[in-house]
Amino acid sequence: MTDMGLASHAVTVAVSRGRRHTEPPPQERSEFQRDRDRIIHSSAFRRLVYKTQVFVNHEGDLFRTRLTHSLEVAQLSRSMARVLGLNEDLAETIALAHDLGHTPFGHAGQDALDACMKAHGGFEHNLQSLRIVDVLEERYAAFDGLNLMFETREGILKHCSLAHARELGELGQRFIDGTQPSLEAQIVNLADEIAYNNHDVDDGLRSGLITLEQLDAVPVFARCRREAEAQWPGLAGRRLVHETIRRMINSMVLDLIGQTRANIAASAVESLADVHRAPPLAAYSADLRPRLRELKNFLFDNLYRHETVRRMTDEAKRVICSLFAVFMDDPGLLPPQYQARALADKARTVADYIAGMTDRYAVKEHARLCVQME
Ligand code: MG
Repeated sequence: MTDMGLASHAVTVAVSRGRRHTEPPPQERSEFQRDRDRIIHSSAFRRLVYKTQVFVNHEGDLFRTRLTHSLEVAQLSRSMARVLGLNEDLAETIALAHDLGHTPFGHAGQDALDACMKAHGGFEHNLQSLRIVDVLEERYAAFDGLNLMFETREGILKHCSLAHARELGELGQRFIDGTQPSLEAQIVNLADEIAYNNHDVDDGLRSGLITLEQLDAVPVFARCRREAEAQWPGLAGRRLVHETIRRMINSMVLDLIGQTRANIAASAVESLADVHRAPPLAAYSADLRPRLRELKNFLFDNLYRHETVRRMTDEAKRVICSLFAVFMDDPGLLPPQYQARALADKARTVADYIAGMTDRYAVKEHARLCVQME
């Protein structure tokens, strides 16, 4: 496999910092394709199908899960990486792995587990994604984790606290130095945002928690809706929603490509090392940024803080906190493979176990272990 045709500032195997454990090179696929394949075959990846993104997904089968969200992020990332001459395989790999560390019940679950872990170093889903690929997956004879390429791991670790960065050595160094990850990682980060803002509008409408009339107050939505209606007079229902959302996604992607291209040209980066030293290069235009802010604010006020979502969120927090208390109180209730690790670090092991649960498994375990106690 060659890296021919990529921009000089793209990540290639030739400039990669490689794997922690040396392995023979793969046959008939690139190192980053191998990383992608390892992620797809991991058990953490399979569990994403039963984890929620926004906590409205329980309500039906048509809503996004973390798995379909990750696939949408991968699709957007690949498209943008290709057109910018970046390493498509790396972008796809980071996208597929970016949410592996999420707890059950979306952000409510993460916040609850972080609160439970307050006295034990806290819980960050981003750091947990890295922990899964570095330590927790048990699949290979020669090493723990998936032994991924440095640049894949760097892309997965989107943000982390300075305290954690200091513990992570080479991988945490950029948070201390204030340098940037690869452009592939930067692109995935923004693809994630484009994906969830748009699919949360879609799922929000589908669930009935928000309405088209409310969304007309959001300029970027109203503009795309007017464009769709101008082209297709009388369009209504699901088709109108999709024709509007596809225009929003497309305008955001095109804006991001255009602005990023301009930033790359203006900063005259020539190598991956230049990308690390430059300010963030993947960015939206100054015109789009306030429009996205309006959309995010709308979703925050009307969907994420909707009474129905909040009721589910409160319930999710209760489930996570009860499970944490039960396992801390009696680690003998953990599955056998966790019990030995719990002897060394009980709280972290309990957090790993709970974070790995799917929504429905957490509900089931809660019913089995906690309900009589409450
Ligand atoms: Mg995401």
